[in-house]
Amino acid sequence: MSQSLFSDASQRLEEALAYASISDDAIERLKLPKSSLKVSIPVRMDDGTLRIFPGYRVRYDDTRGPTKGGIRYHQDVSIDEVQSLAFWMTFKCAVANLPFGGGKGGITVNPKELSHFELERLSRGYIDAVADFIGPDVDIPAPDVYTNQMIMGWMVDQYSIIKRQITPAVITGKPLTMGGSLGRDTATAMGAFFTIEATWPKLGLSGSPADTTVAVQGFGNAGAIIAELLFDAGYKVVAVSDSKGGIYRREGLDVPSVRQFKDSTRTLKAVYCEDTVCNIVEHETITNEELLALDVDILAPAALENQITEANARDIKAKAVYELANGPTTPGADEILRQRDVIVFPDILVNAGGVTVSYFEWVQNRQGLYWTLEQVNQRLKQMMVEETERIWAIAQEKGISPRTAAYVHALDRIGDAVQAKGTKDYFTDGR
Ligand code: GLU
Repeated sequence: MSQSLFSDASQRLEEALAYASISDDAIERLKLPKSSLKVSIPVRMDDGTLRIFPGYRVRYDDTRGPTKGGIRYHQDVSIDEVQSLAFWMTFKCAVANLPFGGGKGGITVNPKELSHFELERLSRGYIDAVADFIGPDVDIPAPDVYTNQMIMGWMVDQYSIIKRQITPAVITGKPLTMGGSLGRDTATAMGAFFTIEATWPKLGLSGSPADTTVAVQGFGNAGAIIAELLFDAGYKVVAVSDSKGGIYRREGLDVPSVRQFKDSTRTLKAVYCEDTVCNIVEHETITNEELLALDVDILAPAALENQITEANARDIKAKAVYELANGPTTPGADEILRQRDVIVFPDILVNAGGVTVSYFEWVQNRQGLYWTLEQVNQRLKQMMVEETERIWAIAQEKGISPRTAAYVHALDRIGDAVQAKGTKDYFTDGR
């Protein structure tokens, strides 16, 4: 595994700089985050003891607007990871052409070990700790790995209590009744689906969706929903996994049944359900490593970072990788995949649907006017298809990977914004 996630993340920038027209000033600005906050969150546990949890919020760059990005709860969360995720958010928001910069937050905690009451106290405690650092025009959090609508609801409530003002636009991914947007829960996967539909036929590798096999790593918000969207569209989803391992069925899985079973039992099984009666169907149990190495057309990593590394990139048999997770492929693995003609569609494009609908939610909060699900999805589709086509065109024109093309595209936009505020060239021109 790489030494630092952030040095891996920055390497993407280095690769793209050769193709982008961007000033030295902008490059300098993008090397380090604007600000990083480390906090200690005291939580009274149910047994009466006090525990302190480390928390973070990083605002990477706000040249294009207030910083935006989720909050992650995971036992491995560190400042290095949060900073890398904030860096990716900066580029993701620029790819999607949102008026936002990039930020991210996290708490080092295993949320599965906490009761609901402890989780609520921790979430409200996080907001107590970062309240002066965030705001609708400053930095706007959202859900990420192991955080959800309910947690966002507690957080927006806590912020509103502190500010003595109902402030829905401070956090996105809220429950609908607190100003959330229709379609936010499905947005990450829906956006990825639009990118897959816009690019897969261009690769000329397969005929119809029915001939296209898919493996999805991760069964959280992004993984479970992309599996179902692809299933509904007729693709053959042959394998899915969660943090404990995966299931594989050559004939394809009945994804809605698998989801229903997982929702009610928290276990992942290859099942076929009729109403509430689910029967196990013949399948193989596989590890997450084995899932990544399956002989499928499309591989969709939708779990955590650093999954496809130099150690396993040679085992990947998929023809195309669509990154729903943030940072699932290391730079070293990218190079191996490129040599092996595996095309990788990058996180900052593929999973940009989540933050895009977060932006729609923020707009609706500020307008006080709420959109229908059709309006949300139609606007999401328009953005995803447009930006996917642009990135594809840049990749073709310059002969570079979709990832480098996405960075070039984002860098050009960020560079324009830096330029607009005045760069060295402006101040020294003509002297
Ligand atoms: N956590 C999501 C991401 O990584 C969504 C961020 C947001 O909606 O602000 O893109």
